[in-house]
Parts: sequence; structure tokens; C-alpha cells
Amino acid sequence: MSCAKIKKFLISLLLAGVFVLCGAELPRFKVGKQTYVRLKDLVAQYGYRARRGTTRMEVYDPAAKKILMVFRKEQRHFYFNSVRIALSAPAVLNGNGSQVNYIDGLKTVKPLLDNGRLHKHFVRTIVLDPGHGGKDQGAAGGGLVEKRLNLQLTKRVELLLKDRGYRVLLTRKNDRFLSLPARAAFANANRADLFISIHTNSAASKVPHGIEVYCLSPAGTASTNSTAVSWKSLPGNRSDARNIRLGYFLQRSLLIRTKANDMGVKRARFAVLRDLRCPGVLVEMGFLSNKQEAAKLRSPDYLDKLAQGIADGIIKYCAAMK
Ligand SMILES: [Zn+2]
Repeated sequence: MSCAKIKKFLISLLLAGVFVLCGAELPRFKVGKQTYVRLKDLVAQYGYRARRGTTRMEVYDPAAKKILMVFRKEQRHFYFNSVRIALSAPAVLNGNGSQVNYIDGLKTVKPLLDNGRLHKHFVRTIVLDPGHGGKDQGAAGGGLVEKRLNLQLTKRVELLLKDRGYRVLLTRKNDRFLSLPARAAFANANRADLFISIHTNSAASKVPHGIEVYCLSPAGTASTNSTAVSWKSLPGNRSDARNIRLGYFLQRSLLIRTKANDMGVKRARFAVLRDLRCPGVLVEMGFLSNKQEAAKLRSPDYLDKLAQGIADGIIKYCAAMK
């Protein structure tokens, strides 16, 4: 390395250190109505590099010689360790380099790269929430009714987690109606450390299939199924960094166990997530409206794989956040 190169390297190292210590502001750029930050600036704090092609941007870990994240120009999602993660605005590639929406950068990209260093979390009590119940049957299709399937799966997850020594509580243990605010209130009253709402999906079209996990949308972002930005900060937004990590670990473990289609970690302002005082996500374990997926969901073996996937995801989250 030449003298000038060494100097440049040392300065960038120093700046990276200053960023981490002071949480210094990153340079921001306006593209249309969105505010963006350079991927390069964002990931330098962790010793990673941003590399760019003509339509593709990568976050590269030089120490492990591994590509961690892949973004594509104009796409509203990226891949982290091969798991699809939603963005509130598409990534941009222009004269300023590879860029992501500022809040996506802080609330999605950074917590995933952070590896638990800044967001440690000890988990003892887990609240599992089988979606729907009683008069509210949820989705139906392929001979299955969502409220029953959700409860069956939740009970399998409960056993696996109790085996690992966690205190596990269910918002409902039988077929009864429970309002959405009552589910979050139950988790808060029982001092839950984690909350997982378990659902089964349905779509108007018979085509969609696969698993998706929803995290609460951060303030200042649009939810995945919308482009309308909301600036309201909700109680659940206090867990933004942990929510996305939990969502990622669950989705990854579910996909490994089931080999299902990756519909991604998405964002929504679901009533059941809004008022949580602990990290929480909502899992959609498959589409009853898809014939092949409904057939899989009728099989007890497949339910075991899903339950194992959820349990693995929680265990991996806890290990990473210690
Ligand atoms: Zn549901």
C-alpha cells in the first residue's frame, strides 16, 4: 500500500470509529420526496464494503469474504443472507453511489448488520398468539379453517419452546374470540419479552404461496402494501431494531425447515403489533387459497416443520441477542 493509501485507510478507519462512538449523522441526499443515505457510509461502521454493478448493489464482508446483502436498482426489497427483506422505498443507484432510504438504513439495514451489539435482549417469557378464534374464523380454504390451524400450530410451538426452558403463554388455548388490542394487552400485562402472532394467509388469486413475516412499520415509512408514509410513532416502534432482527431470524429458520417460497419480511401497522411493549412479529405460514400449499398445511408433518422453524428462529434470535 502506498503512503497516501495508508493515510486514506487510517482516516476512513478513524471516521468509522467516530461514527460508531458519536452516532454521527450520515450525509443525506434527496431523491424525489425521499431522503437517502449512501450504503457505503452506512456499512463502513461495521467494517463492511458497498460494491456496485450497473443494476446491483452489494454489502460485502471483507473479513469473511462473503456477500451479506444484495440490493437491486428500483426494487423495494433486498436480500440479507438470502432472505427477502422489504424496503419502504426502492434502493437508488446514481451519481452519489448506491443509496437506501434514510429510515430504511437506520431501522432495517443497520439493525440486521449490528449482530446484537447495540441491542442486547434477554428473553424469558414468550407470548404466542394464535390468530382469530370464536366468531372470527379467519381465512378458509382447502378444507381448512385458519383459527383452528393457527391454534394447532401454536400448541406445537409451545411444546418446543417449553422444552428449551422458556416461560410460554398463549393468548388463547381454545376456540374463543379475542380482540386485537386484548392480545397485545395480554403480552404487556404478563411482561412478555417476545410476542409472536401466528396466522395463515389467503389471497384473491390462487397463485401466491409461501411464508411471510410482518414487523411493525417504523415511523416515517410506508408499509409494504402501500406507498403512504406515516410519521406517527407507536409504542411498538420502541422495539424497531429488535423487531426486524426477530422477523429475519424467524423467516430464515422457517424457510430452512419448510423450503417454502420466500414472500419476505414485510412491514405493516397491524393492530396486534402496534401497542406491544416488547419485540413482536406476525407470521403468515402459508396460503389456504393455494391448492398445493393448503395440501401441505393439512399434513401433520408439515405443521411440525413450521413449528420447528418458528422455535428455531426464536432460539437463534435469543442466541444472537445475548
Ligand atoms: Zn389471520
